[in-house]
Amino acid sequence: MRIIAATQNKHKIEEIQAITREFDMEVISLAEACISGIEIVENGKTFEENSEKKAREIMMLSGEITIADDSGLMVDALGGAPGVLSARFAGEDGNDAKNNEKLLRLLSGVKSEERTARFVSVITLMYPNGKKIVARGECEGHILYQERGSNGFGYDPLFVPVGYDKTFAELSAEEKNKISHRAIALQNLRKLLAEERKPKKRD
Ligand code: IMP
Repeated sequence: MRIIAATQNKHKIEEIQAITREFDMEVISLAEACISGIEIVENGKTFEENSEKKAREIMMLSGEITIADDSGLMVDALGGAPGVLSARFAGEDGNDAKNNEKLLRLLSGVKSEERTARFVSVITLMYPNGKKIVARGECEGHILYQERGSNGFGYDPLFVPVGYDKTFAELSAEEKNKISHRAIALQNLRKLLAEERKPKKRD
């Protein structure tokens, strides 16, 4: 099944493609689907709302099955921030470096045992008839005092997943893709798809 990934983030597409490769799915980018110049306003209050919005808008444009991920980092000591604002934490013209700098600033003075956080990903698969399948994944961890590693993107250099002593940016793509919030959401999506395809029992 051919699916259009409703994101411009090339890191996300690479991760989604790497994880879905083992399923029966061919995920293509917006560029490969010849869709360009799209600006989707992510003004939802939840990952679910934004994920559905992205999937629906691209599905309406393309008329094809789409997959969208809305994701972010939730830090306990900041009451769940940056959350849905993760991409724009340091402002509309911010970037990963500025977001990480702001996170470290807000957490200065917070003890290591109180720097708990989780990455969240909500994946929506949207069919042309408007039917959707929504799957969520979370990855628990904690935030360091300084960046470590150069792989990945976003907050990866500051996030150490539970059970590891390396940041996401120090892990290889293969290692991250086994345990990440996005990997877990996609595994959950796969289970939901398998359920959906199971022949229904008749009474
Ligand atoms: P979205 O494109 O609106 O879903 O924003 C996602 C933002 O959350 C990204 O720009 C990153 O700041 C952050 N984020 C989501 N997933 C990851 C990840 O796997 N690693 C690091 N940062 C992430």
